Amino acid sequence: MEKTLVILKPCCLQRGLIGEVIHRFERKGLQLCGMKMMQLTDDILREHYAHLVEKPFFKRIKDSMEASPVIVCCWKGIDAVQVVRAMAGPTNGRQAPPGTIRGDYSMSVQENIVHASDSVETAAIEMARFFNNDEVFEFNQYQLEFLYANDEL
Ligand code: UDP
Ligand code: MG
Repeated sequence: MEKTLVILKPCCLQRGLIGEVIHRFERKGLQLCGMKMMQLTDDILREHYAHLVEKPFFKRIKDSMEASPVIVCCWKGIDAVQVVRAMAGPTNGRQAPPGTIRGDYSMSVQENIVHASDSVETAAIEMARFFNNDEVFEFNQYQLEFLYANDEL
């Protein structure tokens, strides 16, 4: 099964949406395998948003991500990367469709509630960036046979 990284951004914490967002992933049937609150730093953000470092607005994004602690989560499931990304919705909250997290809770490109890994390869890199091995847990998910068919497992 795949594991993917979700970051509940400072705007999610400040707006009191932690429970709402986690509730969605739980109800979907994803398994929470790791979770911690942390304060992001310039160094980790330069790495995490390497594709944006040269943009004129990088400082604005960095300041926004450092504005308060964030909560990093690991969610596990079949095709979890694509499932979580679809649940997050497109980057711009004003264009994200209703029913997605960004579509339901965000009015902004920047303040868009969550980060979600965008590919299986990126998810592995991002998991290693934010979690130590002993912070990610392997344990039985007892409803598996009610979440998936035999041939999907
Ligand atoms: N971002 C922004 N302005 C932009 C592009 C990105 O503020 O023009 C912020 C936004 O918070 C976004 C993050 O930088 O979530 C990472 O950008 P990316 O293009 O990777 O979007 P995502 O993968 O989060 O949808
Ligand atoms: Mg991205």
